[in-house]
Amino acid sequence: MQIFEKAPAKINLSLDVLHKREDGFHEVEMVMTTVDLADRIELNTLEDGSIRVESESRFVPNDERNLAYRAAKLMKDHYSVKQGVRIFIEKNIPVAAGLAGGSSDAAAVLRGVNRLWGLNKSLDELAVLGAEIGSDVSFCLYGGTAHATGRGEKVTPLPAPPPCWVVLAKPPLGVSTQTVYQNLNLADAHHPNTNAMIEALMDYDFDAICAQVGNTLEGVTLNLHREVGQIKEQMRQAGADAVLMSGSGPTVFSLVDTDARAQRIYNSLKGFCTEVYVVRMLGYQERT
Ligand code: ATP
Repeated sequence: MQIFEKAPAKINLSLDVLHKREDGFHEVEMVMTTVDLADRIELNTLEDGSIRVESESRFVPNDERNLAYRAAKLMKDHYSVKQGVRIFIEKNIPVAAGLAGGSSDAAAVLRGVNRLWGLNKSLDELAVLGAEIGSDVSFCLYGGTAHATGRGEKVTPLPAPPPCWVVLAKPPLGVSTQTVYQNLNLADAHHPNTNAMIEALMDYDFDAICAQVGNTLEGVTLNLHREVGQIKEQMRQAGADAVLMSGSGPTVFSLVDTDARAQRIYNSLKGFCTEVYVVRMLGYQERT
């Protein structure tokens, strides 16, 4: 049997880091939304019980370090499944970019092998397992727009923002989330108003959403990589309604409510960054 799953990227409309917990994780509060830049995951049953990962990207490991592999292994062990799976990842989401590409691949594999192996588990059940792989996996399982708390694994759905364009630009460098957290000084950092962002979404108010975007980690990555600040400035000058770094970066996104301005921002960045995309937000999890 062969099935396909889409693994969309996410952006953080807001990301607040509250404090460091005793277990070493940071307590966070985030508003996230999926966008239609997606990896495509192909799954084929392997009757010999093995798990194999393949991808043409030279940036992701094709072994048990791959989060997609870990997702399949977790499902196989947890539900004592005899069959195996060949996972092919068509990698379209930039890697180590702040777009949760690896977490989304893992979530797509959880959904996919659930179907492939006929397990019929609910998304809520899969989310409990997903949290063992990474903090963003639970959100990626549901997709859409959501409020995430804890270390990111407690997910509550929110209304989707009004339709708009999202311009994503990633400078040619990867950022390690761990390094960003190590350099974070919570007392000096900017803390977005998450409740105001949630209210803006409830009110379906594009201008208010743009006014509330904020990311506690942005200042750290800006200090480490001046390219991030240059992209932000370029996007502002080209007419973005809001500009923010996603996750721990280095991808920066603009929100824009006209197609023409989205194209203008795209064109202004094309010579500067190799990875630039104009995408739409996904109000719901698209399945193929
Ligand atoms: P987040 O926004 O959740 O912090 P990210 O977008 O910054 O994630 P990823 O693209 O998920 O980062 O990748 C981070 C690291 O995970 C990379 O160094 C990569 O080698 C490893 N990795 C393991 N599996 C995958 C996968 N399927 N896709 C991408 N990266 C993967």
